[in-house]
Amino acid sequence: MIILSIESSCDDTACAIVCSDGTVLAEQIYSQKEHVQFGGVVPEIAARAHLSHLSDLVKKTLNQANIDWKDINAVAATCGPGLIGGVIVGSSFAKGLALARNLPFIGINHIEAHALTVRIPHISEHQVHFPYLLFLTSGGHCQCIHVKDIGDYHRLGGTIDDAAGEAFDKVAKMLGLSWPGGPALEALAKEGDENTFSLPRPLYGRPGCDFSFSGLKTAVGNLLTEYENIDTLPRKLAANIAASFQKAITSAIINRLENAIKASPNSTLLATAGGVAANQYLRKHIQELANKYNLPFVAPPMKYCTDNAVMIGWAAIEILQQAAKNNKVIDDISMLPRPRWPLSEMSQIFDS
Ligand code: ATP
Ligand code: FE
Repeated sequence: MIILSIESSCDDTACAIVCSDGTVLAEQIYSQKEHVQFGGVVPEIAARAHLSHLSDLVKKTLNQANIDWKDINAVAATCGPGLIGGVIVGSSFAKGLALARNLPFIGINHIEAHALTVRIPHISEHQVHFPYLLFLTSGGHCQCIHVKDIGDYHRLGGTIDDAAGEAFDKVAKMLGLSWPGGPALEALAKEGDENTFSLPRPLYGRPGCDFSFSGLKTAVGNLLTEYENIDTLPRKLAANIAASFQKAITSAIINRLENAIKASPNSTLLATAGGVAANQYLRKHIQELANKYNLPFVAPPMKYCTDNAVMIGWAAIEILQQAAKNNKVIDDISMLPRPRWPLSEMSQIFDS
């Protein structure tokens, strides 16, 4: 089975051609630079940028794969959740391709695609079997999901305010770093002393698997009140704040993750996805936590942790294979793009 897939839910325009054995025949991605001057993703600009870049990107992907349309079995695209303008652009484009080529269209839940990425064969040394625990941590999402089967997900907890990536980006901005701030903050933290400031670790020690980061962000803001002009902030102080913030947010995350591990005792491993998983300090601590519970820790290569079209194609393959086992044929051509699409609504595909 070969799938052509499109991802357009945030600020990455991506297209891929993926086979059911996990081989990626082609992948193209355009990470939109249009937002840098605004210090964050502007939804309207993102939608227009997807529109400008998608046709060329799909053509490039087809050329790179060097295959004929007759070899492609279905067209898949993100149908939500995400910035609705971009999702409309990508899914409508994919539906157009599917109709023109008389192929089924498969509408993919972006979070489900992140959740299934670790199952792409050859992606890690582990063969990933259900059930497992996923920590998804990006600019728009921060949640723990017990992945029980295709279409069967239990959200153990999520953020009640900011996502972790959002907190990294906002604190980085306060420190005068450019967007996206996560990588810049991690680099600056290496120059600092993480024990300089004792910052709050929201929800630490409380039951449950929810996250909260806004109090931590406010605490950093309070340290900076005397530096209205950020250019006067001494670099050493900025580095100490960055390191202390990184320590606090990591410690808060690890505490919540430990509760998630306890709440899903049959998990075969701990997996992660999302851009924040690029943070080496956080990764090291998640690895230590996994070791404590004798769980393998699987983190896909960074290009598959962040938004990409390979995971969309792979999710379509998993769904189509599951449907075939249940003697079902799927064509989501009438599926409408959704800004919100909780994973709890996924199993309906196979229940009906
Ligand atoms: P979505 O939430 O829809 O998946 P997104 O564009 O926010 O979309 P990603 O591309 O997965 O998600 O992640 C981007 C986020 O990851 C940004 O907030 C960025 O600051 C953060 N990030 C990237 N690298 C690091 C790092 N080394 N340390 C901390 N945060 C990081
Ligand atoms: Fe994502």
